[in-house]
Amino acid sequence: MATVITEECINCGACEPECPNGAITQGDDIYVIDPALCTECVGFHDAEACAAVCPVDCCVPDPARTEDEAQNYGKLSRIHPDKSFPALADLPASLSRFRK
Ligand code: SF4
Ligand code: SF4
Repeated sequence: MATVITEECINCGACEPECPNGAITQGDDIYVIDPALCTECVGFHDAEACAAVCPVDCCVPDPARTEDEAQNYGKLSRIHPDKSFPALADLPASLSRFRK
């Protein structure tokens, strides 16, 4: 599932610099996540970095956007064309929340 920011957001901005994919921006009312850029931190961390720093726990899985590990991994090459990642089969647990 892509991560989504709920209306509980207090606009603290803590999450924005933590996203490895630049998926988070300040919206009109609250911060927002571009689901096309959210990999649930697959390729970078073992958990969602935005959720880890959010003081009000409003970065949550979006039930309307269920995505498996392969779908999240598949976004990486488009988002980071200049960067190389381990093959999907070789992703260590430290780089995917799906392998905990
Ligand atoms: S889960 Fe990770 S990739 Fe998705 S918006 Fe949060 S920090 Fe960015
Ligand atoms: S860390 Fe949480 S409260 Fe702060 S801007 Fe991000 S989503 Fe909103």
